[in-house]
This record gives sequence, C-alpha cells and structure tokens, in this order.
Amino acid sequence: MFAEVSFPISSYQTFSYKVPERLTKKITVGVRVKVPLGSRKVNGIVVGINNSSLFKGKIREIHDLIDDQQVLNNNLWSLIKWLSKYYNSPLGLAAKAVLPSNLSTKYKPKVETLVKALNVETFNGSLGKAQKNIYNHLQSLEDIVSVKTLSNMCSNPKDICNKLAEKGLVSLLDRPIIPNLSEFAFKSENKKITLTHAQNVALEKMVRSMDKNKFSPILLHGVTGSGKTEIYIEAARHAININKTVIILLPEISLTPQIAGRFRSAFGDDVALWHSKLSQGARAWTWKQICGGKFKVVIGARSAIFAPLKNVGLIVVDEEQESSYKQESPSPRYHARDVALMRGKLDKASVILASATPSMESYYNHLNSKYDYIHLKERFGGAKYPKVHIVDMIKEAEETELYGNIFSRLLLEKIEDRLSKKEQIILFHNRRGFAPVLRCEDCGEISMCPHCNIALTYHRIGKYLQCHFCNYTEKLIPSKCLSCQSFNISLSGTGTQKVEDELLNIFSNSRIKRVDADSVRSGINLTKILQEFHENKIDILLGTQMIAKGLDFPNATLVGIINGDTGLFLPDFRSSEKVFQLIYQASGRSGRGEIPGEVIVQTYSPDNPVIKSATKLNVEKYYNICLEERKALLYPPYSWMVKLEIRGKKINEVEESINKIKNKMVRPPKGISILGPALCYREKLRDYYRIQLILKSKKELDANGSKLHKYYKSILSKNILKEIPSKQRLIIDINPVSLL
Ligand code: ADP
Ligand code: ZN
Ligand code: ZN
Repeated sequence: MFAEVSFPISSYQTFSYKVPERLTKKITVGVRVKVPLGSRKVNGIVVGINNSSLFKGKIREIHDLIDDQQVLNNNLWSLIKWLSKYYNSPLGLAAKAVLPSNLSTKYKPKVETLVKALNVETFNGSLGKAQKNIYNHLQSLEDIVSVKTLSNMCSNPKDICNKLAEKGLVSLLDRPIIPNLSEFAFKSENKKITLTHAQNVALEKMVRSMDKNKFSPILLHGVTGSGKTEIYIEAARHAININKTVIILLPEISLTPQIAGRFRSAFGDDVALWHSKLSQGARAWTWKQICGGKFKVVIGARSAIFAPLKNVGLIVVDEEQESSYKQESPSPRYHARDVALMRGKLDKASVILASATPSMESYYNHLNSKYDYIHLKERFGGAKYPKVHIVDMIKEAEETELYGNIFSRLLLEKIEDRLSKKEQIILFHNRRGFAPVLRCEDCGEISMCPHCNIALTYHRIGKYLQCHFCNYTEKLIPSKCLSCQSFNISLSGTGTQKVEDELLNIFSNSRIKRVDADSVRSGINLTKILQEFHENKIDILLGTQMIAKGLDFPNATLVGIINGDTGLFLPDFRSSEKVFQLIYQASGRSGRGEIPGEVIVQTYSPDNPVIKSATKLNVEKYYNICLEERKALLYPPYSWMVKLEIRGKKINEVEESINKIKNKMVRPPKGISILGPALCYREKLRDYYRIQLILKSKKELDANGSKLHKYYKSILSKNILKEIPSKQRLIIDINPVSLL
C-alpha cells in the first residue's frame, strides 16, 4: 500500500511513501504523518492512497502517524482540495491553512469548580458558621456558580464547599474553562427578545432552508441596529434544535466582543471561540473538542470557516463586505466569504451574508437572483437613523481664517452640547500616529522608509518615526533636511495622537480614550475600554476604523468623522466603496438608543458623489452609481480578476520577469483583457519592488470564471515558471481585494 503525501511547502509536488504493515489499518486520507524527506523528518498530510505507485525510484517508508484521531472529516477534506485548486495553492499549504499547526499537544484547559445548593428537606448534622453562611447564600441563588465567586465570603471556599458536598447539601461540578473566551466576550445581558414581524420573516426563510437540508445563500441586508444579530441567534437556536451545527464569522473577533458575548449568553458552553490569539495549546485542544462534537457553535475570524464541525446547518458571515475576510498572505489567498459559500454547498447549509453595506459582489449576485434577499429597512424599536451634517472644511478655513484646524466649529459645539447632557461621543479618524508626514518646507523632501516607498509617520508618544508597513523605526528625528540641509522641516497632516492632544486641550475635564493599533499594542485591553464606554465611564471615544463596526452603545448620540476623505483618492477600484462603507458604518454607531443621534462628517470634497450619498445614508443610490462605473470599466463584480505580481530586489530583473509572462499573453480569448504590467501603487515594500499584471474576464462570457482560470494556468506553464529566478516571488491572487 502506498500513500501520496503533501507537505506545507511551496512546491506543487506530492511524494509517494510506502505504508508499513502496522499502519495500514490506520491510514486514511486526511491523516497527518511523519515521513523522511531528504535528510529531514517532516510532517505531511496524506492526500491519496493507492495499491501501486507509478514512481520508479526508491520509495521510502512512512515513520509514524501524528494524530490518534482523524482530524478532518470528508467535507473538510473536499474543501481543502477546492481551496488548493481554486486559489492555485499546493495541497499541503491549503491543508496547513485549515489545520492548526500542532494538534498533538498535552494541553489541558484549566478547570473551574461550580457549586449549587441541593434541596434538602431535613438536615440533622451540624454546620460551622462559615459553612452555614455559604450554604444559605447558595440556597438564595437560583443558578449554579463558580466556587471562586464565594471568595469574598470566606478565605477557603473550596474546602467549605467540599465539606458541604460531603454532607450532601451541595453538588459540585468541574468544568473546563474554555480558553480565552472571557477575554473577548463582553459581559452579556440577558434580555428578553421577541422578534418583530420583519425579523420573523427573515428567520422563517432561514429555518425553512435549514429544514430542507438544502444549500441556500441569503443576503441579509439590514440597516445597522435592525437586529440582524438577534436573528442569527434565533436561527442558530433552530439549527441546534435539529441537531445541526453553526459557524459565525466576524471580521475580527477581538473587535467585536459584544457579539461573542451575546452568543455566549444564549448558548453557554456550546460556543467555542476560534481566533488568532489562541495559544497553540488552546488551539489544538479546541480543534479536538470540535472534532469530538463538544461544541455546537463556533464563532471566529476568517479561519473559523474551517472549524471541523460535523453537519453544519448555518453559516453566518457578519459584515460580509469586510476585507479582513481575505487572507492576503500566505497562500492560499482565500476569501472566507467564498469559502463559506463553498462549505455551505458541501454541507448543504444555509449561508447568511449579512451587512448594512453589502459588498458590490453580493449586491450584484442578489440583483442577478443568485441569492435570496432579505431587506430590513428599519432600526429595531423605531430608533431613527441619525441626522448627518456635512462640514465643508475648505469653507470652514476661509470663514475662520484658521487653516489646518482639526475640528470645525459645528463639531466642537456639538461635542460641548453632548458633554453637558452626559451623552457620549465617538470620533473617528483613520490614521494613527501623530503626523503622517515630516516634510522639508524648502525643497519638499519627505522622510521616507528606506525599505518601502512610503512616508514615515511621526509618533509623539515615544517620539519616533515609523513605517506603517514594515514597522521600520527611526528613534532620532532628523533636525534638518537630508536632501537640502535646510532646518526648515515640519510635521504635517493629522493622526489620532494629534487629535487626542487637541481634545485633551479643549475638553480637559472630560474622560477621553484613544483606541488604535498603537494603543492596543501597548497593552490597553480593548474589551475593557469598550466595556467602560458601555458603562458610561468614558465620555469621548476616539479611534480608527477599529471601532467603526458592530458596536452598540445606546448613549452614544454623536459621531464625528474627522476626515471623511481619507482613502478616497487611492488608486484602487474599491477605494470609494470602502469610504462609503466606513462613513455609513460609523454613522450607524450613533443614536442606537432612544435619543436620536447626529453625525458630523468633515470633508474637503463635499460635492464628491461618494461622500454625498454616504452622508445621505443612501445605499441603493450609491450602489447604482458604483455598479455603473464598475460595469463601464469591466471591474468586479462584472468581471473575474486575477492578479499576477512579481516581487524582487532589483527592479530591472522584476521587469524582465513580468515581461516574459506578459509576452506570452499575445492573443487572449475573447472577453479576457490584460492590464499592465505596472508598478503597484505601493511599489516597494520591505525592500522588494512590486510589478503587477491584472487579468480580467467578462462575466457575461465566463459565467463561473473557469475560462480565466484555464487561461492564466496555461500562461504559467512549467517552462515560464522556471525562468523566474528563485530569488523573486510570483504571487498569484485570485479575486484580489486590493490592487494597491
Ligand atoms: P444589528 O446586528 O443589525 O446591528 P442588533 O442585533 O445589534 O442589530 O440590534 C440592535 C439592538 O436592538 C440590540 O441592542 C438588540 O438587542 C436590540 N434588538 C433587536 N431586535 C430586538 C427584539 N426583537 N427585541 C428586543 N431587542 C431587540
Ligand atoms: Zn529640503
Ligand atoms: Zn517600511
């Protein structure tokens, strides 16, 4: 018996191994094995089993199995094969993306002991004072509680509870503490929910398709605050009732503790969290528990789509337009939304793509009747959508004769007003650091990262210049221009640290917190801050897009967007879509309670159609404009796209390689067009120059994209791949989300 084994390396080959007698019973496709490769022993995954081998040379033997249980089920295995094929990634790498890197650890989660009073009719024994106290306390509680929570009543609750248990007065239960769940899950409130009519209609659709055991994709387009999350919770309840399991994908779980908390309070220990911050041990443990059927619901960021649940009935992709669902690196460069649809097909599940601002792709698929469509147009409880004001910052500067002011008069006035009413304020600014540019006033020279073609950002806290791509840092701030020696250099532009400084100056009596990648990295606990904001212990929350989504704070009645234009003019076909979504989502944070909210968008381009429709909160109108543009230029969703990018340290060599590829594309099939080669917008990153070729294939002539796939694969023949020097990298990105 022979096994085909694939390795997590960037080669497209699999290798044949002999299966020793003692393992023949245990080896199946999808199992991991230890095998010799060259002079090393490496881990691989079995991708095929045969009775004979075509390989003529010496065939070596598998050393051992890595796992004592099957770590994949058949559907997940099919999904890996699909990933590998669709995203043009070696099987071993695709398997690596799916499986945790180390499955066989000795990790055991900590256990907590829970206690509950038993109903005892008569008790004749005697109790010490502390025992009596604790027992009475437990009797007064209805729920089972952790023994630890009793430590404020006595110094040794564990001993006392043990004694009470011996006497038959309480029962004790050990429960593993699920790794990291508490860290991200917000404290949850138990609130009584009765779905509204519109919510019920949506739920019914999901229930029906789950009952029918049929793959059904649904676009749930619901304004922020329309109760989408409540609907998923009920849909998940139904899935569990009919013995199915549930995957909930969130763009980034550490940013959305509230949603995790709501699921946790609805489903308790049936919920597992799956995210990048789990330790290796916790990851292995969780994976095995899921394989063993311990969890019914898995919530997590993009890789949670690979959770080894059996019989998945419901998959929710929350905020489905988010680009964090795309894995940029390493290969496979998959999009979790597309994987979710594929998995839904394999598992015959209902797949809910949910958003207040759907991606153009999903909206287009709805228009083409590929998805069922549910539209929730109103906020729950009739909460009004906020009133949005646009402030023209150019006019503002002219009228006040103050140039480069961060806050307009209107925004200041409104902040003042909210502070006096003890209402809360959220301010967005999508640039971290203090000032994005250090510029010479005489010759215009800008301090750049030596490794990337990107300006260094000045950070006031810690006083350093930093590249936001490679993290290159200069501790010594130059005092003169490196190019013309002038001392006339100055900081320009505004980052969150500068906004914070100004805020502290103007509103010195208020409680202000800044949330961005820097403050989170330097150890503030985001969940804690959000909880504090929720409890009204913070007046003004200032942050980057990190805080734009998914949060629900009823007392936040004012949202300010410091610069609505950020990102608007980036040369990417999706940049305006992103700006629209950010403004819309950020506005959705305002006025979620009974008091109506207001939003202020400061902009230097008040007439820009994107800004205009975003501030009118008019999704349909903007989507129509946007789709027209995409159609005219044949961009997705009207075409399939593949990006071929070469990276290398010598620009002329990179050019040479990309031209070799381009030269093979002499007469592409009808409907396929080629852009480039051209330098990427970020033309140099981490010392590597980047040149790209973009291939587009008109959907009208290529319904499922297979024509484009066939074409680019035919171009990238073995011969041409051989000609690309090994010190360069060819990156193949299927359906790229960014062309920057
Ligand atoms: P979305 O996910 O669409 O932004 P949420 O599910 O967060 O909306 O709902 C917004 C708020 O309204 C939440 O506080 C939620 O608990 C509440 N809510 C929504 N639907 C109901 C309902 N049927 N009954 C009670 N509260 C609800
Ligand atoms: Zn200069
Ligand atoms: Zn850099």
